[in-house]
Amino acid sequence: MSDVSNNGGAAKPKPSKLNPNVVPMPEQDAKVRAGNFDEVPTGYTMEMAQEEASRCLQCKNEPCRPGCPVEVPIKDFIGLLRDGDPIAAANKIKETNNLPAICGRVCPQEEQCQAPCVVGKKGDPVSIGALERFVADYQRDHGDHDAAIELPESTGKKVAIIGAGPAGLTAAADLAMIGHSVTVYEALHAPGGVLAYGIPRFRLPQAVVDSEVEMIKKLGVNIEYNAVIGKLFTIDELVDELGFDACFIGTGAGLPAFANIPGENLNGVYSANELLTRVNLMKAYQFPEFDTPIKPHNKVVVLGAGNTAMDCARTSLRLGAEVTLVYRRSEAEMTARIDELHHAKEEGVDFQLLTNPVEVIGEDGWVKAVKVQKMELGEPDDSGRRRPVPIPDSEYEIEADAFVVAIGTSVNPLVPNSTKNLDLNKWGYILADPSTGATSKPGVYAGGDIVTGAATVITAMGAGKDAAVAINRYLGGPEPEVAEPEEEVGTA
Ligand code: FAD
Ligand code: SF4
Ligand code: SF4
Repeated sequence: MSDVSNNGGAAKPKPSKLNPNVVPMPEQDAKVRAGNFDEVPTGYTMEMAQEEASRCLQCKNEPCRPGCPVEVPIKDFIGLLRDGDPIAAANKIKETNNLPAICGRVCPQEEQCQAPCVVGKKGDPVSIGALERFVADYQRDHGDHDAAIELPESTGKKVAIIGAGPAGLTAAADLAMIGHSVTVYEALHAPGGVLAYGIPRFRLPQAVVDSEVEMIKKLGVNIEYNAVIGKLFTIDELVDELGFDACFIGTGAGLPAFANIPGENLNGVYSANELLTRVNLMKAYQFPEFDTPIKPHNKVVVLGAGNTAMDCARTSLRLGAEVTLVYRRSEAEMTARIDELHHAKEEGVDFQLLTNPVEVIGEDGWVKAVKVQKMELGEPDDSGRRRPVPIPDSEYEIEADAFVVAIGTSVNPLVPNSTKNLDLNKWGYILADPSTGATSKPGVYAGGDIVTGAATVITAMGAGKDAAVAINRYLGGPEPEVAEPEEEVGTA
């Protein structure tokens, strides 16, 4: 067994209160990390990873695998790691997942691959995500990142991908690996979609995104940046004038939603996307080294209950503000991952739950306070969650010089509305077959948040994968080789 670590040989921390059976991953102390943008968990050592891998029972029927939208061969990669070969383990994952270091960090594993894990029936499931992260980082850090690349013969077919988020990048990689010529058109100056502009660097370091995108480019995928489809070309022009044989639309759902309360036009009110894009993509936290500034705020109120709200609250803390998070229901109804909630509390975010903003109060055009009202939970509504009901005469003000609205997003209408004969649902999302991504327009496929609404990185990747299979069939391309089934070693 090697003792090479990907976190510099850190000592094993105490078991976590949240997951007492799991080998804990070392992380920065809460007080220290609240003042920097470095990644919070610092990663397993080889020894820790192998110890955690040894909790896997190598189940014959592998119930964890269907829990993963891209069906990572979980049992096999963990077996290879346990046997001391993390590079073979990383290559095994890459048979179905081109972004393992990203997924190992941001997938909601507790609801996906780890939910059906049999070890979890009597304790905590195997930390599949942490192990995936470990082997992917190990391969990157040990210079074996290109080992699995073998470029296929060209099919002569051209595919345009719109959007370089997880859906588009996955479809692009899978189509390039079959031999199709793939061009990705991306509106921004950098790839990754939400991975680049939304998820903060303390959860997903830039180097991890860059390195996994670099791998996709090495498959021959060409990415055109600053290319806004619907303005530069329409989908119809890509097909009729530029000669693309098929298109995949993966433009996400990035249009911010607001709370529609008085005072939202004041200076100091941000959508979550504006705050996060300034800080993550434009690197405002490194101003003046980078051009985009961000106004320092002393007291920030964040509205929301999901991962995006946690990201905004933790980002604002790191920019030096005191942060209050308000949400109209209780903690039980919050949609953020439990780890994110826990990290935000540890770092000092003040949670005021059952509290709803009713007005942003200003002075000289700038935010001065947020007026909120206390709520209580009534009968369940259509979503099955108990309805928040305002408590009369319970309003009060929270002093603030910034208000960040993190209550979700909707579809950007540019591509849907500029494409002829593309059927949409009543909210403007593209109607696509859930198993192939086929739209109402022959040769045009779609997947990810532009079809489902805001979801997860791995569901967007799963949609990109399914669409790549369907696009290849549409183009009459070669069927990818199916690996011979391996001999079963497990007994559980
Ligand atoms: P996106 O990631 O949105 O990518 C779409 C891309 O298309 C973007 O790069 C955009 O610039 C480009 N584009 C848009 N319009 C055009 C156009 N007209 N022409 C060319 N390009 C265009 N999910 C998780 O699983 N775990 C998490 O921890 C998590 N945290 C999140 C935190 C935040 C702050 C946010 C906002 C989301 C988070 N999500 C998380 C959700 C997840 O990131 C998304 O579900 C996922 O990124 C969707 O992938 P996508 O490829 O469909 O779209
Ligand atoms: Fe689990 Fe995500 Fe890895 Fe799939 S890609 S095995 S859901 S961590
Ligand atoms: Fe999958 Fe079984 Fe291992 Fe859990 S114990 S990760 S279900 S093979």
